[in-house]
Amino acid sequence: MAEKSFKYVIVGGGVSAGYAAREFAKQGVQPGELAVISKEAVAPYERPALSKAYLFPEGAARLPGFHVCVGSGGERLLPEWYKEKGIELILNTEIVKADLASKSLTNAAGETFKYKILIIATGSTVLKLTDFKVEGADAKNILYLREIDDADQLVEAIKAKKNGKAVVVGGGYIGLELSAVLKINNFGVKMVYPEPWCMPRLFTADIAAFYEGYYEKKGVNIIKGTVASGFTKNDNGEVKEVKLKDGRVLEADIVVVGVGARPLTNLFKGQVEEDKGGIKTDAFFKTSVPDVYAVGDVATFPMKMYGDIRRVEHVDHSRKSAEQAVKAIFANEQGKDIEAYDYLPYFYSRSFDLSWQFYGDNVGDAVIFGDHDPASAKAKFGSYWIKDGKVVGAFLEGGAPEENQAIAKVAKAQPPASSLEVLAKEGLEFASKI
Ligand code: FAD
Repeated sequence: MAEKSFKYVIVGGGVSAGYAAREFAKQGVQPGELAVISKEAVAPYERPALSKAYLFPEGAARLPGFHVCVGSGGERLLPEWYKEKGIELILNTEIVKADLASKSLTNAAGETFKYKILIIATGSTVLKLTDFKVEGADAKNILYLREIDDADQLVEAIKAKKNGKAVVVGGGYIGLELSAVLKINNFGVKMVYPEPWCMPRLFTADIAAFYEGYYEKKGVNIIKGTVASGFTKNDNGEVKEVKLKDGRVLEADIVVVGVGARPLTNLFKGQVEEDKGGIKTDAFFKTSVPDVYAVGDVATFPMKMYGDIRRVEHVDHSRKSAEQAVKAIFANEQGKDIEAYDYLPYFYSRSFDLSWQFYGDNVGDAVIFGDHDPASAKAKFGSYWIKDGKVVGAFLEGGAPEENQAIAKVAKAQPPASSLEVLAKEGLEFASKI
């Protein structure tokens, strides 16, 4: 069987892999030294586009337009870029076996890839309703969204079921973004989720009330406090109805499910230390196994600011962790030291004409400020989280770039807060003084 050997291998070809490749090039990787092995058919791209502009009815984003690293304002790495740099892009190749002891990876065809240093960048996979044995969940047009192939299926379904009815299962950011884009595509949209409000892992009830009100105003019908418990199919095996646990039945031409993701660590189970569902790393993304690094969604890493360890499934961290790991690899080779990863959590989402950013930690008491009336023509509001007398997290909807920078500074500096009332009154002014 064929065997290929590289000094460095990145397994996974998503956001982290792309940003890691760019950093390898910056650090002077030599032609032939680096391979990126990806299950996907295309070079690394900015995954967040898939639930946003990729699904627009007009002017939709398409590759090569959103290859990394455009998402952070950088150079767009086209397949030719990898060729020029002598970086081998091994696409359509799923690694099915990893043996960290013998430093080799194997694909389904039995080909082996040897490495000296490995970066694990396999990301996450979606949770499926079939995993939970939900009745009828194998019907056609029950769709998920993680990779570009999934997005293409969704595009086809949107075309095939033009102006139809969609049910979105899940109230996280994927559910919110997909509901908005399906509405923009002129679908009748119903969202279903069990929690008392959307995005409960981040949003407070006050924040969520704005988005839910706004979505209702746009014609998205939100059904809370229940779950999809089964599906019926038509004669073609396509989904026809969604049965809810509370007894209601919703008609559907398309169902899109966004109920969470699971980090893809199974290849390495029992070979590397894990924690909090991910592969445990240090502040340089080194795992418990020498010469093996893990970055992006799969890494559970020390969060210096908060003195704990976390796993983060967001694009900003996937980019920065990848860069940190590659810098650490080169520093190690040169006997140099680099600073420990000091990450300030940053999440964002966009839907309809809304756009929010969040920095820091959403713990302690929260206070909302500004105009958060969903009926307002141009609502703009934010929230601060206060713990032990300090502002530790900040959220802003509709902020200008300098205002977003100001709330980021707040989350980083953690200034003292005299009282919730003062913060509510000062709003963005508080941030602009930091
Ligand atoms: P991924 O980008 O998922 O890349 C993993 C890659 O590894 C994939 O190419 C996969 O095919 C490949 N792979 C996996 N297993 C194997 C194997 N065995 N062999 C070979 N290849 C393999 N974050 C935000 O902060 N804001 C957003 O607005 C936002 N929007 C998103 C929208 C969508 C639709 C999705 C799915 C995610 C979104 N995210 C967003 C999250 C963000 O995209 C992820 O956190 C980020 O992509 C993680 O990067 P990664 O490199 O760890 O994993």
